[in-house]
Amino acid sequence: MRAVVYDAFKEQPSVREVPDPVAGPGEVVVKVAATGLCRSDWHGWQGHDADIQTFPHVPGHEFAGVISDIGPGVTGWALGDRVTAPFIMSCGHCGECRSGNHQVCPAQTQPGFSHWGSYAEYVVVRNAAVNLIALPADLSFGAAAALGCRFATAFRAVVHQGRVRPGEWVAVHGCGGVGLSAVMIAAAAGARVVAVDVHPDALALAAACGATETLPPGRIDRLVDVTGGAHLSMDAFGSPETCANSIRSLRRRGRHVQIGLLPSGAELPMGRVIAWELEILGSHGMPAHAYPEMLALIESGSLVPELLITRTISLDEAADALVQGGKPGVTLISP
Ligand SMILES: [Zn+2]
Ligand SMILES: [Zn+2]
Repeated sequence: MRAVVYDAFKEQPSVREVPDPVAGPGEVVVKVAATGLCRSDWHGWQGHDADIQTFPHVPGHEFAGVISDIGPGVTGWALGDRVTAPFIMSCGHCGECRSGNHQVCPAQTQPGFSHWGSYAEYVVVRNAAVNLIALPADLSFGAAAALGCRFATAFRAVVHQGRVRPGEWVAVHGCGGVGLSAVMIAAAAGARVVAVDVHPDALALAAACGATETLPPGRIDRLVDVTGGAHLSMDAFGSPETCANSIRSLRRRGRHVQIGLLPSGAELPMGRVIAWELEILGSHGMPAHAYPEMLALIESGSLVPELLITRTISLDEAADALVQGGKPGVTLISP
């Protein structure tokens, strides 16, 4: 198959022929119809993710496609089924998985990090019994691809970890793919959303996704004036500045959710966290069993992930796009 491959961190990726994957016991192979270009792929290529240990490496962890090979022991699925999977492929039988928290499974693997990913014609889904998700017939592969990472991650951050309520003020810091998803999900839940980003193009997309206010990062004072302090705020970019800005955006007893990766950590205003009883929460993907709630909102038209897609590129263009990092909105690769 053809795949985007790199041989060392920060070395120019290229598209080349590599062996086709084969479905082992409990696994399926998915023929990739669409895969997203996520900032985490750039972090991986930079060497920020300890899960990437061997080369050559194929990135990519949010994808949708059809089942093209079924390994021994997999039941209930057929060749040609339209599917996606969470980027966190859980083991299904440890204590965390048994409690329903597959997203923090200590035995998890991640395509594009712990093994070859989806910037390719084919990708393996491990432990298909717990990680495979059937797609609604009318959901496009493009929209479904974002559900493997950014859209689902934002859904868990806003709805499950953030516990958003109608009428609340929600601040979203960083309006890339996951931030825009969070804006759309919070607005659909009836919250009033303030979107914060340095790029005017990203703020325009945030307004189209339902943000009622848009601001540059230097205007946290204005954000607090408008909202009286957000009930819920999240760092969807991942930097010491955006993390601190998110916490500074909160009212007393507000909730901060960290979504963006922080490779070098951040200094937090812990004095305010104590005095104002702030909650500091993490959010990490979403387990497959939680997808039906989100898919129902997509099928009803309350959530429209298609709105986030700003460009579709080929596998050949993906090698350079990975190096360049993010562009506003969601970039899809169509192998
Ligand atoms: Zn597990
Ligand atoms: Zn991702």
